[in-house]
Amino acid sequence: MVDEQRPPGIPAPPPVGESALRPGTFDDTCVVVTGGGTGLGKAIALEFARLGADVVVASRKGEHLDAGRRAVEEVGARALAVECDVRESESVANLFDRATDAFGIPAVLINNAAANFPVPAEDMSPNAWRAVVDITLTGTFLCAREFGRRNLAARTPGSIVNIGATYAWTGGPGFAHSAAAKAGVVNLTQTLAVEWGPYGLQVNCLVPGLMPHEDMTGDIRSNLDRTSDKDVCQPALRVGQRQELGWAATFLASPYGRFITGHTLVVDGANWQRRSLTNPPVVPVRAQMGLDPFQG
Ligand code: NAP
Repeated sequence: MVDEQRPPGIPAPPPVGESALRPGTFDDTCVVVTGGGTGLGKAIALEFARLGADVVVASRKGEHLDAGRRAVEEVGARALAVECDVRESESVANLFDRATDAFGIPAVLINNAAANFPVPAEDMSPNAWRAVVDITLTGTFLCAREFGRRNLAARTPGSIVNIGATYAWTGGPGFAHSAAAKAGVVNLTQTLAVEWGPYGLQVNCLVPGLMPHEDMTGDIRSNLDRTSDKDVCQPALRVGQRQELGWAATFLASPYGRFITGHTLVVDGANWQRRSLTNPPVVPVRAQMGLDPFQG
């Protein structure tokens, strides 16, 4: 039944499997996707795979690596899964060695690996801060550095797509570590785009909106259950679908996006620009999370 009071929102996207780019756009192209065995990373890996890419899935856990490799092979592309911790430069160098041996020097890098969990800043341990910043920001730099060095030395062009988040600009109450790290990722994108443009390397950032998926960690899932993964909480009146991020990533890395570099593209149905006509009452992060008052 149509709700007469409710506007229609932004229409649903075409189904998974469709693409705006022509088949074979990424034939003979090695694409590395960090964190490519779960959630949004896997969705991005699959869009490249559908367009002919040879996809290298990189992360720490065997079950994620298997899931990513299987998914890529199921759409008919070649896949390699490499165990890698993006915080460790030797591990990242090994990832690029393995990728190059299998499919040639990677021409596309998707810096998607990240870690996140909600915690009020006053409860955040130094280790929690370091772990998230190391994976999200340092890991992005180490992978970009390895990609840049190899393509610069070989004089080959390439494209990096870093994955950001909108709280890079707004701050992220309950996510101080991740928000600060993502702000660094956006900034790093701009620096590298200028440094490496002369050598034919594009560096962009892609920011997903709320795109729920079955691989979300328990922490993130329960945060969403508490709050806002409902369609009516989005200006688009729907949440994002994973393929919408994959299409944006493949466009940015395609020949049709060549002159776009140093850019951050937000795919979130305008959710991050929301303001209210009225100022709703402020609810402290602790209360939003159902935590007792801080006792010191
Ligand atoms: P996710 O399912 O939790 O995926 C994170 C991935 O990163 C996992 O595959 C994990 O694999 C990998 N990873 C974590 N630490 C690593 C390390 N040290 N070395 C290598 N790989 C590591 O997250 P997601 O929801 O798909 O999000 C993907 C990206 O989008 C992230 O950058 C996230 O910040 C961003 N984002 C997501 C949303 C959303 O609505 N989902 C919104 C805004 C931004 P292993 O455990 O196997 O290492």
